[in-house]
Amino acid sequence: MAELAPKNTESKTQIKCPICKRPVALDLKCFPFCTERCRTIDLGKWVTESYVISRPIEEKDLDEE
Ligand SMILES: [Zn+2]
Repeated sequence: MAELAPKNTESKTQIKCPICKRPVALDLKCFPFCTERCRTIDLGKWVTESYVISRPIEEKDLDEE
């Protein structure tokens, strides 16, 4: 019940960078990305998506038939 920190997960789980799919070390500062550059790319994706999602619906959109 109390195994919050398993000891033998080292090198069993290979994390890969979501952007370029290269193996990432667990102790990286920019984890789970291999580099700051990949992290920025991912961040940019999120910003773009949330911008689209949070676009306010205007009456014009609903009124069109
Ligand atoms: Zn990467």
